[in-house]
Amino acid sequence: MLQQLSDANQSQLIDRFGRRVDYLRMSVTDRCDFRCVYCMSEDMTFLPRQQVLSLEELLSVGRSFVEQGVKRIRITGGEPLVRQGLPWLLERLAALPGLDELTLTTNGSQLPRLATTLKDAGVSRLNISLDTLDESLFRELTRTGDLHKVLAGIDAAIDAGFDRIKLNAVILKGRNSNEVPALVQYATDRGLDISFIEEMPLGTITEHDRALQFCSSDEVRQIIEQEFTELLPTTNKTGGPSKYYRLPDSKSRIGFISPHSHNFCGDCNRVRLTAAGRLLLCLGQEHSVDLRAVLREQGADEQSLVRAIRGSMAIKPEGHTFDLNADAAEPLRFMNLTGG
Ligand code: SAM
Ligand code: SF4
Repeated sequence: MLQQLSDANQSQLIDRFGRRVDYLRMSVTDRCDFRCVYCMSEDMTFLPRQQVLSLEELLSVGRSFVEQGVKRIRITGGEPLVRQGLPWLLERLAALPGLDELTLTTNGSQLPRLATTLKDAGVSRLNISLDTLDESLFRELTRTGDLHKVLAGIDAAIDAGFDRIKLNAVILKGRNSNEVPALVQYATDRGLDISFIEEMPLGTITEHDRALQFCSSDEVRQIIEQEFTELLPTTNKTGGPSKYYRLPDSKSRIGFISPHSHNFCGDCNRVRLTAAGRLLLCLGQEHSVDLRAVLREQGADEQSLVRAIRGSMAIKPEGHTFDLNADAAEPLRFMNLTGG
């Protein structure tokens, strides 16, 4: 019995604070067809291709994590659906024994052509970003995006049979905060979940002052309750940082992701792999391990990867230190490099 328990622990990733890491967010590209104002600068330089992990390398990392007890993988980016050959990777990840769930976060622009392919490849759930239903504001916030394509993408995902689709909306005060009621109505009309996200200071941007346009989850919640009625707390736990509520008579969950106003680090169960193969131990800190170097080292084998991943648990920080008003340097990487 004791031996069995210790074998089980051997195949689990547990950090210094006793938190079990069973969730990997994997960025498959830093590129994107949008340039959202909170995520990127207008003129981005993307990584040279040879610096980005190949699909085979991504699969090796995913497999190693699953063998070490990871139960959920979320594919993200940049925009994951602009990565060539992605279905090849998705099919293989989804088939890994021990993986409970393969999910994907997308801006939705490629879903009209890819929703069914994703479903067939074994993706079980989708998060789709949507910050506004106003066409010109959508163009302003994404700089290059076409709202109609994204709405058609959401319809395609519903038609492809995805269950529990979740919309993600980053809310900026005075920009899209008055869009909150329309977004809630859109989600509840279609039985979709929706999460409102506080903007995080990832990467230096000049388009707006993050502190001035900061809109807290409590403010978003007030907007919803003024327009509709009091939100009812739900007992749903998704193992993530969202706190969920719902409107009476609606099955849609309304979530709030509040890295500033409600710190969620104590329950952190996740790590992130950047498209360049850097394993980030915390969204808001720079602690990382270069898995690309491990993968590309001469004579590297599966055990080298296992050792590097296990070793990373020793440097997972206790929590982030986001501060919108801080003079201290912000984390330098943009969200598209982080694997949001
Ligand atoms: N391109 C995909 C998308 O937009 O859904 C996946 C990658 S994107 C980096 C993942 C999520 O991060 C999106 O929901 C986006 O709105 C959010 N995001 C990007 N920059 C952010 C920031 N500075 N603060 C908070 N959320 C951010
Ligand atoms: Fe692209 Fe997503 Fe970043 Fe927008 S949030 S620029 S869609 S990666």
